Amino acid sequence: MDMITISDLEVFAYHGVLKEENSLGQKFLISAELYMDISEAARDDDITKSLDYTSICKEISDFLKKNTFKLIETIADRLAKYLLIKHDNLNEVSIKIKKPWAPILMTLDTVSVSVSRKWHQVYLGLGSNMGDREDYIKKAIALLDKEEDCKVIRVSALRNTKPVGPVIQDDFLNGALCMKTLKTPQELLALIHKIEMKLERVRDIHWGPRTIDLDILLFDDYIIQSEDLTIPHVEMDKRLFVLEPMAEIAPWLRHPIYDKTMKELFDNQVRQCRA
Ligand code: ATP
Ligand code: CA
Ligand code: CA
Repeated sequence: MDMITISDLEVFAYHGVLKEENSLGQKFLISAELYMDISEAARDDDITKSLDYTSICKEISDFLKKNTFKLIETIADRLAKYLLIKHDNLNEVSIKIKKPWAPILMTLDTVSVSVSRKWHQVYLGLGSNMGDREDYIKKAIALLDKEEDCKVIRVSALRNTKPVGPVIQDDFLNGALCMKTLKTPQELLALIHKIEMKLERVRDIHWGPRTIDLDILLFDDYIIQSEDLTIPHVEMDKRLFVLEPMAEIAPWLRHPIYDKTMKELFDNQVRQCRA
């Protein structure tokens, strides 16, 4: 991907763990790699289609001066996210912060921290079978979109589906959505749990009735297997109520393990159900 680089922008600011650093201040050197598609800007020779690096330098400098953090790790993380949220055309940002005057009573060149942050493409499964099902799903979508580091891009139609599994319960309303997020998979899981709790989800019976269920179906092409998180969602390739909305909003998208598109997985499942 195309990239604009800013190297060692000098900013005098007041970050640090020691109170002297917060009062006396010191020099920080900031480097940024800004990943975006600049082909249109280059073709039309038009700065409005690119990023004006004078204003980016000013934004970086202002950000370091307006905020005070203890750690250069925090500055790098927050600054990267700040730039990604502010500029729609940025896909990914790497920030390196050097602290040449780090007070460690030894001779060194610089201490530095580097981070890379990017917009991840995520698909969530949506379900509800209690109360006003559509209203719960709409509220969940609004709560996701309200987060400044999450942007809902597309929502499928919501379909009435019969419950699967051993529990006798009301029909579900199911759908799926596509969103962008700067969160890690674990941070996104924590957010969906928070939203489920806010929307009165009670976990008493496994696979039982619920006001709202948000599942992480896909997160970029990550494959994650941990105690509390499995991505891609373990059951997604077998569930018509997941594959149908996924085939609607992303028919061309490939499952990173089965290497089949959503449309292919959906068609296979329909065939198996008929057989
Ligand atoms: P299913 O996961 O089979 O659809 P469910 O949605 O009813 O069942 P929950 O009670 O909502 O299950 O979730 C149980 C746990 O599953 C969560 O606490 C979470 O830690 C874990 N989990 C693992 N992978 C995922 C994922 N991809 N998305 C959401 N939760 C997940
Ligand atoms: Ca589920
Ligand atoms: Ca769930």
